[in-house]
Amino acid sequence: MKTLVMGVALLAATLSSQAADKKLLMLAGRPSHGYMEHEYRAGCLLLQKCLANTPGLQVTVVSNDWPADESVFQGVDAVFMFCTGGEGHPAAKPERLKVLGELMKKGVGFGTCHYGVEVEKGAPGDAFLALQGGYFETYWSVNPHWDADFKTFPNHPVVRGVKPFKIKDEWYYHMRFPEGMKGVTPILTALPPEDTRGRPGVSSTHGGNPHVQARKGQAEHVMWTYDRPDGGRGFGITGAHFHRNWGDDNFRKVVLNALLWISSLEVPAEGVASTVTPDDLLQNLDPKKKIVLIAGKPSHPPGMHEFRAGMLLLKGCLDGVAGVTSVVYSNGWPQDANAFENASAVVIYADGGGGHPVLQGDRRKVLGELAKKGLGLGFMHYGVEIPSTNGGPELLEWIGGYYENLYSVNPIWSPEFKTFPNHPVARGVKPFSTKDEWYFNMRWQENKEKEKVIPILVATPSDEVRKGPYVHPKGPYDHIVAASGRAETTMWVYSRPGGGRGFGFTGGHTHANWGDASQRKAVLNAILWIAKAELPSNGVESSVTPEQLRQNLDPKKK
Ligand SMILES: [Zn+2]
Ligand SMILES: [Zn+2]
Repeated sequence: MKTLVMGVALLAATLSSQAADKKLLMLAGRPSHGYMEHEYRAGCLLLQKCLANTPGLQVTVVSNDWPADESVFQGVDAVFMFCTGGEGHPAAKPERLKVLGELMKKGVGFGTCHYGVEVEKGAPGDAFLALQGGYFETYWSVNPHWDADFKTFPNHPVVRGVKPFKIKDEWYYHMRFPEGMKGVTPILTALPPEDTRGRPGVSSTHGGNPHVQARKGQAEHVMWTYDRPDGGRGFGITGAHFHRNWGDDNFRKVVLNALLWISSLEVPAEGVASTVTPDDLLQNLDPKKKIVLIAGKPSHPPGMHEFRAGMLLLKGCLDGVAGVTSVVYSNGWPQDANAFENASAVVIYADGGGGHPVLQGDRRKVLGELAKKGLGLGFMHYGVEIPSTNGGPELLEWIGGYYENLYSVNPIWSPEFKTFPNHPVARGVKPFSTKDEWYFNMRWQENKEKEKVIPILVATPSDEVRKGPYVHPKGPYDHIVAASGRAETTMWVYSRPGGGRGFGFTGGHTHANWGDASQRKAVLNAILWIAKAELPSNGVESSVTPEQLRQNLDPKKK
């Protein structure tokens, strides 16, 4: 039996050595960052696909950082790491650096990309200098976003077929290189804007330092290759923050060429040929729910209708939630044509009524089509108000209700929210009261659809509140006064018959009220809920300091 097993093992070994293919192992990091950023796995799988037709090369992609089974390193010719770096770098543990060191002794090539080029100074940094001839060192290197214009290239196999190109990325530069650049060949070099060197005098981990500032006016290297003294090969490229950049033929080619080169394969005369379609770029993305937060144009006096500041605060809170990524667009609507691509939810916090952002152009149609496909929609404060004949039907369909002029009211009052329904959006929300322009008496969906509207924040206004004056028009309205004693809904959620979800939140007039943990939690929960994202058992935990409440306020005259 033992002989047979050995025989099979021997046969397998013979077969693989007969194939004589070079073996490239790609280690893709765990999910991090926002939508289409640091897409380690999708990026590696895309590169693997581009290399599929390269004769003599086998590419294996292992996801989630360091391989649980280290036998994947057996027989490799090169290792490529595209992953989170710094102290969280998957390679930055003594036993793992040892694994890489052993491979290096066998001449195995090594390369890293973007955040993967950053390791801590000391043992990890020294190991990377030996493996690939450079790394991002804190207080020495910088990580700004800029448009790098690559005009000329060295005479090196890695740039075969690469034409001059210009591309925006988080191009780290001023890497730590070996003394005298020994063994290093700069591959991509460009002149960064001066302000990317950080504020004069600053010395920060990633945002600028005296060393990089002393090089004012000089071009910087953002990709390099390394010939180790013993003949092994390495490279580093600092871009690829944006997944979309893999769609650029030159950007992609220089990396594909480098992957061949570290695998000790001949780079074709015109470089590695490959095509990537816009659709290809959307494959294998990490599971992050994308939430689009739209903030209206500045309006009202300071501290009121601070749409942008409010959305940025909420985004800051959502950044701490696993599995979601959010983006804020200001001035009423995204200029970015890709803004809604793959979005799970869109929330609009803006001035409404006849000037409601969704009423312009074909926006209603765009949102309507996405809503049919299940896009979550949320409307906040003035954003819940829309003319009954123009937009009203859409809001009923999308979120189950809206503020109808002369039917709904907008007094400033302090509702006591004391009890909450058994609904995910109310998770962890404690009784609270904030003084705000809490609208009520919305126009609701009728008939059976009405049952799908679930009130979340409900309180009973006093007769004084009912009698007004309201903010606009002053009222009072007979139908509001006559409803004395009735509890009113100021926030609700809605499940559309087609499966999508919506919410309406009528507070949010006064910016300072975002400082209230329960008000904030109700809204953050609602945003996750409409995006169909995982809701924490106690709701979204967040903190907002008085200092944060003063940030990003619209420039308004007092
Ligand atoms: Zn980045
Ligand atoms: Zn208001």
